[in-house]
Amino acid sequence: MADHIVLRNVTKKFTTKTMGDIVAVDNFNINVHEGECFSFLGPSGCGKSTTLRMIAGFEDLTEGEIELCGRLVSSSTKKLYVPPEDRGLGMVFQAFAVWPHMNVFENVAFPLRIKKVNNTDINKRVAEALKHTSLTGLEKSFPGDLSGGQQQRIALARAIVTSPKVMLLDEPLSNLDPKLRESMRFEIKALQKKFNFTIIFVTHDQSEAMAISDRMMVCDMGKIMQIDTPENLYNKPVNRFVHNFLGQSTFINVVIKDGKVYPKGNTDQAINIPIPGNVDSEMVIATRPNEIELSKSDGYKTHIEKRTFLTDRIEYLVNVGEQLVKIQTPHRIKFDRNEECYVKFVSPMWYPVDNEAEAAERAKRQII
Ligand code: ATP
Repeated sequence: MADHIVLRNVTKKFTTKTMGDIVAVDNFNINVHEGECFSFLGPSGCGKSTTLRMIAGFEDLTEGEIELCGRLVSSSTKKLYVPPEDRGLGMVFQAFAVWPHMNVFENVAFPLRIKKVNNTDINKRVAEALKHTSLTGLEKSFPGDLSGGQQQRIALARAIVTSPKVMLLDEPLSNLDPKLRESMRFEIKALQKKFNFTIIFVTHDQSEAMAISDRMMVCDMGKIMQIDTPENLYNKPVNRFVHNFLGQSTFINVVIKDGKVYPKGNTDQAINIPIPGNVDSEMVIATRPNEIELSKSDGYKTHIEKRTFLTDRIEYLVNVGEQLVKIQTPHRIKFDRNEECYVKFVSPMWYPVDNEAEAAERAKRQII
């Protein structure tokens, strides 16, 4: 399959008054395949929007180059910057709301008018775009008279009216309520299937990204942490950051002494798990709250500190050494508060202990 979007060694530095130079995007290499839905995911300040803006052509590159559908559109060494309107992109950006003074037809027709398309073709193509976004009949309405979902569909119709091969969606659903978000996700996927465009989707919302994406990039502090399918990112996170970012995580600080694993700060009782090669004497083991086994007889002996009934499961807090560990079980596994119990960690992942300097740097980036 051909690559529709290629970033080669793309770096973007900003010079700020208070912080000096910030490397917002540090040597990104990304290949997005034709027809793929690819999400950028990461905390505020990780470089998602800057990367998208460079692909769109709103931002130049400090280093590297970008290719769209086999055509070089940005290159720092060749001093090449194709303007956004000539990149053949469809865009739905959060900031690019629909124009309130134009009716639905004119909002959608706008990109065609800029390209000086004749009126007969405009009528035909706008009608087609409105049909695919379920807006037929609302041509003369003004955005202010329509619902949030309908307004978002106008933005989608405007993006597809030029038949782009690549669609950039930046938090396109963030203004919608959760139910509408979900149905709009299906609509975007249906449009993609129909027109076979390649999507880059930027979001803060990990479950949304997981539901819509073929592959995702998780980044942190201007660096790519991992690119993979949603399933692999969840099941095989390469580091603690990715583990924590996707789904719920349970981390336990442990020490390794005489070939045994103990919760940090308490060597009374060992946790019975195999120790991989190449571990330091202090490590973090990671698992998911629904992957810890809770029973009456097998594992690390402790007791229930807290029990919370949730609609589809029960959540328990138990002490492992001096650390409180969250466990989620189906309703049929029942324990009372203070009851003795045993916990078993099945195939946990192992990570180095927290790097405090990194945490401080992350916080700094989010407040600039
Ligand atoms: P958010 O989810 O909050 O939009 P993001 O992941 O999209 O965050 P970016 O907006 O790409 O992150 O920002 C990455 C880093 O670059 C941040 O540290 C940000 O403060 C910095 N940055 C972005 N734009 C500029 C600019 N025009 N001038 C200076 N610094 C900038």
